[in-house]
Amino acid sequence: MGSQPTIFLNPIFKRKVVNSRDKEIIRSICWSPPGCHGGCGVLLHVKDSRLVKIEGDKANHFNRGRLCVRGRNIIEAMYHPARLQQPLIRSGERGENRWREASLPEAADLIAGKFLDIKKRFGAESVIFCKGTAFDIGAYLPRLCYGFGSPNYFGFGPGNGNACYRPRVAVSTAVMGRLPIPDLGQFDTSQNEDYHFTPPKCILIWGANPVKSNPDGLFGGWITDLMKSGGEIIVVDPQKTELAVKAKHWLRLTPGTDGALALGMLNVIFEEELYDKKFCGEWVTGLEDVKAAAAEYPPEKAASITGVTKNDIVKAARFFAESNPANMVWGVSVDMNPGCIGTILSLLSLMTVTGNIENPGGMVLPSDPFGVKRRGDSISDFPEIKLKRIGAEEYPLIETGNPYAQPDVLLDQMESGEPYPIKAAWIQGTSIIPSSFADPERVIKLFKSLDFIVFADIFMNPGAMALADVILPAAMYPEKDSLYVHFSQLGAINKAVEPLGECRSDGEIILEIGRRIAPDYFPWNNIHEWLDYRLKPAGMTFAELKEKHTLKPRIEYAKHASGRLRPHCMHGFDTPSGKIELNSSVLRKMNLKPVPHYRDYTCGYWDEYGKDDYPFILTSGSRSVYYFGSQQRNIAFLRNKRRFPIVHINTADAQVKGVNTGDWLNIYSPFGNCKMKAEVSEKFPKGVIHCDSGWWFPERKGEEPELFGVRESNVNALLPSGLQGPGGLGYPFRCFICNVEK
Ligand code: SF4
Repeated sequence: MGSQPTIFLNPIFKRKVVNSRDKEIIRSICWSPPGCHGGCGVLLHVKDSRLVKIEGDKANHFNRGRLCVRGRNIIEAMYHPARLQQPLIRSGERGENRWREASLPEAADLIAGKFLDIKKRFGAESVIFCKGTAFDIGAYLPRLCYGFGSPNYFGFGPGNGNACYRPRVAVSTAVMGRLPIPDLGQFDTSQNEDYHFTPPKCILIWGANPVKSNPDGLFGGWITDLMKSGGEIIVVDPQKTELAVKAKHWLRLTPGTDGALALGMLNVIFEEELYDKKFCGEWVTGLEDVKAAAAEYPPEKAASITGVTKNDIVKAARFFAESNPANMVWGVSVDMNPGCIGTILSLLSLMTVTGNIENPGGMVLPSDPFGVKRRGDSISDFPEIKLKRIGAEEYPLIETGNPYAQPDVLLDQMESGEPYPIKAAWIQGTSIIPSSFADPERVIKLFKSLDFIVFADIFMNPGAMALADVILPAAMYPEKDSLYVHFSQLGAINKAVEPLGECRSDGEIILEIGRRIAPDYFPWNNIHEWLDYRLKPAGMTFAELKEKHTLKPRIEYAKHASGRLRPHCMHGFDTPSGKIELNSSVLRKMNLKPVPHYRDYTCGYWDEYGKDDYPFILTSGSRSVYYFGSQQRNIAFLRNKRRFPIVHINTADAQVKGVNTGDWLNIYSPFGNCKMKAEVSEKFPKGVIHCDSGWWFPERKGEEPELFGVRESNVNALLPSGLQGPGGLGYPFRCFICNVEK
């Protein structure tokens, strides 16, 4: 690849903003835990060794002083009486809630002994290493997994179909070599005089609500800033979101029909010759195949499938194609559909044929900042263990740009013991239930069958209660030194206060175990030596980064033309042909449909289980500002804002069912049910039921069978196992079927 762009040091960042006898203000970055995909700059006020106040860091370009309500209420979480502060070793049966406290060395010795014994008897691959969506764990945990000798590293946020982010990464990597991200000004900085941001004229927000979710290093406030200065948005969402009502075009599609809508828009763009012929001629293969696929979806047909009017499809397609530049913020809804590959291919085609790749204000193909790895060690550096990776044979696409093994195959393998048994699990930063898996009872049963399970987290959670043999207490971000690594920023997470009890940062916990079970890969005496190792590509130590606090890489456009995307400075994109392959040779080789396509999975479920019995489309998991995944239900300030799980039902449907706001509803499918409080409104369209996800009740009894009430309001209980899409990617979390009753 091309060399790293010049490092730009921001001189205004100093770690200690104030350092007087009775007060310190430490500059840091809000990341994880608790988990969030943002990365907002914060100023942590410390008095008498306690965190007493938090404010947004106006000097940090990411959030410019803004914080969400979760970020502002971190102090309650930090000093919550239920914080885990000591390692716990199970003393009763699993799920009995009987534990004894242990020291960290004792717990680490126990874990190491068990893991090494299992390795000796069954092979290292019998131990799996899993994390949730919490971000900085992802830079540390692969080394523990691969260094120990297991290829089985999993992301459980969610698990089934790796249906969050990974499908977009895998298909994008196949088609254009990297994941494209929207250029929204995040690479800009007031100190960088020779760079001027070109604002997009149109942002197509597809299946995302970034002002609430701040996803993947993208701060939602950037979009509202751009709108204030004249930028227009198109929103594709069945939900009436804050952005949808302000959009120039709001395409209120039926959940799960994204692929048909994207093809309908492509149809308009080709029919009206609105595509960028020059860019396509020079840098694209497979254009004729995409044209042929789009020809199957004239706007009237796309309208009949999606519920969006023909007129709106045509107008939105024209506006997107004619806005120069335009870009796309695409969300997890795209992945939460077994047909995600076809949709992602269509959306990549939309970006590409309109010439919005590697252009200022369009979609850019970034690399890790200054060569510092966001995702830690890669399985490709451990070829000797790669062959035993769960799911790699059935679903080779999961290896493309992705770090994880395949969780649906894992569950089947846990059941069958073939081709080898699974005996132990390391689970960090996720509770597994309620938010990671469909068919949660099967998941609990399968994990209970393992010999040994370790959890690491900041609070007790339903999964740890039901399954853990050992629980390690994790530090929260104000208690730790670590790195924030994202495309537009490399930053120091600076420890402001000492961790409570024996809490340790996720990196330190991993180091503690790694030194015991994989000493060759963990030569460091402390986390700072490991951080120095991670920072080597940037040519600095952690102590130096701490004082600079954040570094921003210079953005470069048209890297395909300057030879910065491929090895040996070759021109083009990092694909077999060097071009953007809209008919993907990588997918073709894997016997996956390589061109944009659409299949209606929801109709398939109706055909099988009956539309009369299950007349509604079930969609779940749209973001609340108060909670991230299954977290924060025990934070009183946030819980008081939203006390119960909510099921949204359209006014017309509620009338038919005799439902009023505040009624408890039973939502059920052929596979399970859950209970939630009704909110009757026009927020979701007629025929669609939206359920909150991630709910449990920390105030309730923990021991089995109660498990903090996690069995009561878990929408994932309505979905069965085994619905992953082609390539092992995608799951119908946002497009299943259900019915409701009072
Ligand atoms: S969006 Fe909220 S929780 Fe996430 S990093 Fe920013 S302040 Fe923290």
